[in-house]
Amino acid sequence: MGAIIGSFLATIAVRWPQGRSVLRGRSACDGCGRGLRAHELVPLVSWIAARGRCTACGARIDRLHPMIEAGCAGVGIAAAIVAPGPAALAGAAFGWLLLLLAVMDARDFWLPDPLVAALALVALAGAWVAPPDPIERLIGAAGGFVLLWLVAAGYRRWRGREGLGGGDPKLFGAIGLALGWRMLPAVLLVAGLIGLGWVAFERLRGRGLAADDALPLGTLLAIAAYPAWLLMITAAA
Ligand SMILES: [Zn+2]
Repeated sequence: MGAIIGSFLATIAVRWPQGRSVLRGRSACDGCGRGLRAHELVPLVSWIAARGRCTACGARIDRLHPMIEAGCAGVGIAAAIVAPGPAALAGAAFGWLLLLLAVMDARDFWLPDPLVAALALVALAGAWVAPPDPIERLIGAAGGFVLLWLVAAGYRRWRGREGLGGGDPKLFGAIGLALGWRMLPAVLLVAGLIGLGWVAFERLRGRGLAADDALPLGTLLAIAAYPAWLLMITAAA
C-alpha cells in the first residue's frame, strides 16, 4: 500500500511546485506528455523495467518517483511491524505525509498548508487508536507551534531578517498533535543534530555555509518525527 500511495505522493511533489494540477489529468510522462498505460503504472516495478526512462521519448524519469515509492513502502512496513491494525494505518499515514513534506521542503523550501493540515487531521484520527492521550496531544500541538513561533519572532527582532519559514511552527504543532508534548524535545534535538551534521558534511566537502544560508527545517523535523513515533509505539506496547 505504501508503494501505491508513494506513487501518488511523488506526483504531488513533482507537479505541485510547478503549479500543475495533481488531481486532474491522468498519469503522463513529464517529458513528452504521453499518457501512461496500465502496465506502466506499477510502483517501482515499472521504473525498473523501463530502466528509469520513458519508453516513447527516452526522457529520464525523475528519480523522485521510485525514491518516494520505496520510502513510502518502507514507512508502511515499519508501521505494520510495530503496531497492530488501525494504529499501523494511522502511523503509516503520518509517515507518508511526513515523507512528502520532507521532500517538498528539501526541494522547494515549501511546506504547503493543506498538507500540514492533513497531517494534523491524521494525528487527530490517531488519538482513537493509539497513545498518547488527547490532553498530551493538545499540549504538544500548542507547545510545538508556540515554541517555534517564538523562535522565529525572536530571531526576526534580533537579526532583522527571517530565520525560520512560516510553515515550520505549523508543522511542529502537527507533530506535537501526533506524538504528544513529551516527544517534542527529542524530535527538536534530533532534527538539530541532523542539521548540524549536514553543515559539517558540507564543510568537509569544502563548501562552507554562511550565516544566511538556509537549511530546510521542515525536512529535519519530519525525518526525526517518524522514528520518534515508531519508538513511542514500541515503548507503549
Ligand atoms: Zn516521454
